[in-house]
Formats: sequence, C-alpha cells, structure tokens
Amino acid sequence: MPITLPDLPYSKDALEPHISARTLEFHHGKHHKAYVDNANKLIEGTDLAAADLDTIIKKSVGDPTKVGLFNNAAQVWNHSFYWKCMKPGGGGAPTGAILQKINSDLGGYEKFVEEFRNAGITQFGSGWAWLVLKDGKLQITKTPNADTPMAHGVKPLLVADVWEHAYYLDYQNRRPDYLTTFIEKLINWDFVNSCLG
Ligand code: MN
Repeated sequence: MPITLPDLPYSKDALEPHISARTLEFHHGKHHKAYVDNANKLIEGTDLAAADLDTIIKKSVGDPTKVGLFNNAAQVWNHSFYWKCMKPGGGGAPTGAILQKINSDLGGYEKFVEEFRNAGITQFGSGWAWLVLKDGKLQITKTPNADTPMAHGVKPLLVADVWEHAYYLDYQNRRPDYLTTFIEKLINWDFVNSCLG
C-alpha cells in the first residue's frame, strides 16, 4: 500500500471553535481516508502500484483512461497539504519571507486577503483556493474538484478546501464566513514560509 493516510498534525479538537472535531472526524477520517483507499484500489496490479503519490498524479493528469485515479490521488495530495496549512492560533498577517513576497507580488496583505477569499467564494461548486509560486511570482488561483497546481508544474504554498464537506457542519452554506475564519484564525504561515524556502 504505497499511498497512506497521514495523521493530522494536531488533535481533532485543536482547531475549535473555528473547525470542530466533528468536521475533522469526517473530513480526515472519512473523506480523506476514502480517497486513499480508492487510489490504492485503482493502482493495485498496475504499473503505478509501487509509484509515489506525486508520480501517480503527474502520470494520470489529463489521461482520459485514468480520470478516477487522478481524482482520488490528487484529493489525497490536496488534503495532506491542507491539514498542514492550518494550526491552532494561526491566521492574521504573516511575517518573514512570505510577507515581503506578498507585498512585492500581490500589493500587500490586504490585497492577499481580498483575492484569496474571493478565489474561494467564486469557485463554483467544489474545489480549492490556492496561493502558489509560478515562474518565481506569487499568484492566487482556484481549481475545481480534485485539480491541483502541482500536477501542472506550479508550486503550492497555501490552500483552502472549499468543498462543502470542509465547512458545512460548522458554517452550513456560509462559505465566505469559513474563508474569513481560515484567513484570520487558522493559516499556518510558518508552513507557508517553509514551502517558499
Ligand atoms: Mn476536503
């Protein structure tokens, strides 16, 4: 079984009251786990059975015969990354290299907040809002469903899951409120800085 479900980097109640233990029980223990189990079933007995996750994603993206594998493998990657993008007591303006880069590439922290939140709000249906590094510059992007910048040679630095399963138990239909809380209370800028480095 080469694809594994990583442990959460904090306890299930660590992000309360912003994201409940109940949400993390389902989101990590059911949704993320299902993507891991499905991807492992789909690679069993194929030439990708022993490949690492990054290779599986890059070899399945855009292949019409491997849509199911891409979707499940990319969702595994995106969720493993998403957990690390949050921490208890996180959020607010960053410090360090990422702040300088936000100032020079995006026009400042307030612009980052506006654009990142807007990317999440305007992703129609399920998907992800991203801060990425492309050609040496920061960009804010969004992807639908399972799609992920790393499949397209773009380096992810930060992601917010905007699938309903990420916020519905805690925020019902209020995706904008979830995104505001993600930005103000949850972002792990130390992790973002480590990705930039
Ligand atoms: Mn999710």
